[in-house]
Amino acid sequence: MQNEDLTFYSFDGNKENLMEFFDNYEIENIFIPPDSAVRNLKKRPDRVCRYCGLGANQTTFKKEAHIIPHLMGNRYMVSDFECDSCNELFSKYENHLTDFLGITRTIFGTDAKKGTPNYRSRNAGLSAKALNLPSDHKAIVISDNNGENFEIDDDSGRTEISYQKNKYIPLFVYKSFLKIALGLIKPDDVINYKYAFEHLIHSQSDVQLGKVATINEYSYTRNCKVHCYLFRKRRKDDLRPTHIFQIYYENLLYQFFIPLNLEDLNLYDGKEFTIKWCPPLLLWPPKEGENCRSRARDLSGLEKIDEEGLISMEFLPGTMKTLSSYDPITKVFIDASDFDMQKIVKILLVPQNPDMDFKEIFKDGLPPGY
Ligand SMILES: [Zn+2]
Repeated sequence: MQNEDLTFYSFDGNKENLMEFFDNYEIENIFIPPDSAVRNLKKRPDRVCRYCGLGANQTTFKKEAHIIPHLMGNRYMVSDFECDSCNELFSKYENHLTDFLGITRTIFGTDAKKGTPNYRSRNAGLSAKALNLPSDHKAIVISDNNGENFEIDDDSGRTEISYQKNKYIPLFVYKSFLKIALGLIKPDDVINYKYAFEHLIHSQSDVQLGKVATINEYSYTRNCKVHCYLFRKRRKDDLRPTHIFQIYYENLLYQFFIPLNLEDLNLYDGKEFTIKWCPPLLLWPPKEGENCRSRARDLSGLEKIDEEGLISMEFLPGTMKTLSSYDPITKVFIDASDFDMQKIVKILLVPQNPDMDFKEIFKDGLPPGY
């Protein structure tokens, strides 16, 4: 799939969806957080809040306002159109986004405010944190604290890590995503989304907003730095939402339409419309057999919910039978046939690096904090 000077790939079986999507939508903009601070922000006295509409004489603009939350790894993409009280409100929503994302931020090493965040599941059964190994190697250690969270099956080559997420309010998660999209639309479009902005910052229409608060989630086995795509429909009179928004975050893609555009209001008068989503856009072709899973996430709920998080990893079936194990405490190699996978209580994730010598790394025993 070609779009100006970019070539997009997607996973097997998605080609038709991709072609169909681009028949109806075009890329309006791509947003990649910069690597250094932006300097062209408006002076504070000249600022107006895009979200609540208040100017610098009615509200304050002291805080740094991230368009994509810092918790998703965006440090430098900040705006001059988010006032402090809206910022405070969005921080509240983003606490729920943090709990919704669960262990993802830790195991992919998202660079958040204080580096990679530590994670602790709701009943503390599972925890994860970044660790510095000797010789400057970085790793993530995942600990199964009650023996119930790891399921490692050597025959199928599948490891599943399940855990109890901290409770979150689904609609606040939706509002966190909607806030990002509304922060990235062109200034000219802001007026067209006046109802969406109202629903975002007020709670009296949460039930109505809930009716459109479903987002589409894709998960796959590669990960990337956070970035977004904004698509606009090609034909104004099409019975489709004007904008579709995608946010790529680590190994996930979240996608939804921006609701309540004034030009789309006929979509909400009871007519049926279905949305064909854009499959994940990859800049490199997927590997043989590499695939993605998609599911609809209903984020309409206004009450805190309990949810199980699940991370799965794949390795070659039968790998465990061929491994030799090393005990860093006794400094003894254990024959693989004596190795009981059910007793695994920690998993150490390290970047692919053929030069890593574990015997050397663990020569002085377990690293601090392990
Ligand atoms: Zn505001």
